[in-house]
Order: sequence, then C-alpha cells, then structure tokens
Amino acid sequence: MKRVSEILANVRIENRKNLLEPEAKAICQEYNISVTRFKVAKKEGEVVKFAEEIGFPVVLKIVSLGIIHKSDVGGVMLNLKTANEVEQAYRTILTNAKKHQPNVEISGVLVQEMAPQSTEVIVGAIKDDQFGPSVMFGLGGIFVEILKDVVFRVAPVSKQEAELMITEIKAYPVLRGYRNQPPLDTNAIADVIVNTSKLVMDYQEIKELDLNPVMVYEKGAKTVDARIILE
Ligand code: ADP
Ligand code: MG
Repeated sequence: MKRVSEILANVRIENRKNLLEPEAKAICQEYNISVTRFKVAKKEGEVVKFAEEIGFPVVLKIVSLGIIHKSDVGGVMLNLKTANEVEQAYRTILTNAKKHQPNVEISGVLVQEMAPQSTEVIVGAIKDDQFGPSVMFGLGGIFVEILKDVVFRVAPVSKQEAELMITEIKAYPVLRGYRNQPPLDTNAIADVIVNTSKLVMDYQEIKELDLNPVMVYEKGAKTVDARIILE
C-alpha cells in the first residue's frame, strides 16, 4: 500500500525505529482499523482550530520520539470540552513533558476525538524469531499486565481463528455479556485482529505493534492509541 510504504520509508530516512502515534494510526487507517480522528498541532494557534474541526470533547497527547509512555509523563489529557480547556491542556502537556525530560524533542501535540469510555482491549503483534509475525489479543489494564490473560496466534490469522482467539481468554465473559451487561461487538474485534494480521504479514519489517487500548462498544470498536516499532 502506497501510503504505508511512504510512512515507513520516511521513518527509515530519518534513521529511527519508533513510529509516532499519528504515523501508526495513519497506517491503521489504510488497513481499515478504525482509529480516533486526529490532527497534529505544531503550534499553539492550531490546537483550538483542530479541536473545533474534530469536535468537542477532545483528547490532547504529546507527540515525541523521546516519550514512549505518554501518560506516565502527564502527556495525555482527556475529555477537554471547551476551547479554554484545550488551550490550558496544551500548555500543561508541554510543561509536563519538559519537566520530565528537559531536552526532549517534541514534534507537536496530537488533537484527537474523545472516544466514549468502554471496555478496553489490546490487539498486538510481534515478530517472533522462530514463528515470524504473530498476533496477540487480550483485555486491557490488569488483565494483561497482572493476569497475563492473553492469547497468541501465528499470522496470518483468518476471521474464524480471530473469533476463536477472542473466546479463549479467561475474561471472555466480560465481552460476551453477563447479568445485565450487554454483549460487546466481538465481530468488530475480530476484524481488528484480522486486519492487524494482514498488516504485519504485508510489512515484515514491523517488529512490534500495539493497539492499546481499543475501545469496544455494543456496536463497533475504536483504536485510541497505536504504537509500531520497526526491526
Ligand atoms: P500511553 O502512551 O500512556 O499508553 P494512551 O494514548 O494509551 O497513552 O492514553 C492513556 C489512556 O487514556 C488510554 O489507555 C485510554 O484509557 C485513554 N485514552 C487515550 N486516548 C483516548 C481517546 N481518544 N478517547 C478516549 N480515551 C482515550
Ligand atoms: Mg496506550
């Protein structure tokens, strides 16, 4: 795909391995993985304009190659409802980033659509030394970090296999629905898994990919954070 190849070529020209969130999300879009609408503000004057174009509420995030875990440095501000809140958040994020790393190079501030809160899942991929591109699925937060409740498959993964993966995690009842919790759109998650599998099969230079989190709804799913690392 032309756009994906262009982005990856540019990353290589700049002699780096990490993609920025907007680059990773632009690649996701080419593979029909739904992401939050976004624009990168390069100066203060753009941030409110972009927020208005995207529509309130919005989220602001630091864009910097030196910052991998954005929320750890106070680089993510959620649910900004007015122009005033957006302006303030813009300054706070830049201050926080510089406080954390005084010489950090900042590419801009990402303005994006605020996705309604919901159950968060993770879709990932790694290039395994032995098995090659492999995809991972699990629920977000403690399910992955503490309980290691995840499943892996060697790519390519078919839609049927993706559906099976989803049922294999211990936390599957959370997605299937329980008591008066309605079932979530596991079909949309399966599509994300399949499209991620296609992406890492097509571009074998991808060493790691992380869609963390993907918000899952009764209808649809939306990726709110994406990370890609090249070999
Ligand atoms: P980090 O680099 O720290 O992983 P994230 O972009 O994942 O940063 O943001 C941290 C958390 O903020 C996410 O796990 C998610 O819960 C929430 N979040 C981030 N972006 C959005 C968004 N666009 N809409 C709603 N929630 C979001
Ligand atoms: Mg994240």
